Amino acid sequence: MAIRFNEVSYFYEKKKKNQLVPAAIKDINLNIEEVGEFVTIVGHTGSGKSTLLQHINGLILPTKGEVLIGDVKLSNKNKKLKLKPIRKKIGFVFQFPEYQLFEETVLKDIVYGPKNFGFTDEEARKRAVAISKEFNIYDILDKSPFNISGGQMRKVAIAGILAYSPDILLLDEPTRGLDPLGAKEIMDFFKKLQRDYNKTIIMITHDMDLVYEYSTRVIVMEKGSIAFDGKKEELFKEEYKKYHLTKPTILKTIDYINSNTKYKIDYNNYNLNDLLKSLKAGDFNG
Ligand code: ADP
Ligand code: MG
Repeated sequence: MAIRFNEVSYFYEKKKKNQLVPAAIKDINLNIEEVGEFVTIVGHTGSGKSTLLQHINGLILPTKGEVLIGDVKLSNKNKKLKLKPIRKKIGFVFQFPEYQLFEETVLKDIVYGPKNFGFTDEEARKRAVAISKEFNIYDILDKSPFNISGGQMRKVAIAGILAYSPDILLLDEPTRGLDPLGAKEIMDFFKKLQRDYNKTIIMITHDMDLVYEYSTRVIVMEKGSIAFDGKKEELFKEEYKKYHLTKPTILKTIDYINSNTKYKIDYNNYNLNDLLKSLKAGDFNG
């Protein structure tokens, strides 16, 4: 399912004490193809990232313009549109999704989503079991979701969305507040969904290390507009400075090696494993 924004603007409110309030996002044109992209959205707080993301599954409708999800049109003129079929295909993981856990057991929480989208009890259960094995939470299915670690709670909340197999996954800072190991575990899982199952992932993050390791495309938001849309290798040559972004740790490391040794390592190394391989291969020529 392709996602397309045509001239989309959104105002939370038009006026406040008779002052015009600026658009949260303005005149956004964006095209995210059918399958398999891993898009990260970065930018300062208040730049419009969450507002943009919420348009993709109709949590908010454009004030102006339209969003197309496949051939379904989301617009202000189409307020009665039934959004459930869209939301089944496009899963949204909110910031701190664990705040929305509410059932007595982990299992009940995970089956809630698939049941809500029409899967039978048995099918929902099967899916919950399968995803919990993948996610290393199978052992806690009978526990209360309020009696497990923070990292496990996050995984339970995400599993509840993955259990109905959305084609597109929207993630608003999914690793925020997790320890590095917990963050890596869920990031590697998202990567697997994108690479092996052709899911489209669209993720908001402030972590440039995650951007550099995982994304296939980066969007930089500034004051409600898209300031950059392209390849991470391109962004982190020079342009990132313009947006006051920090350079990913791996690139700082490569810069350091290149300026202090004979190595000429290029930027096509996305994590420490890649870098180690290049060093072992004696990559002196870039
Ligand atoms: P980001 O996710 O990049 O931090 P947001 O999309 O949350 O940005 O916010 C974009 C703009 O919209 C900001 O100016 C913010 O203050 C405003 N905004 C966000 N949510 C609301 C809301 N619920 N009501 C009014 N204004 C909001
Ligand atoms: Mg936000």
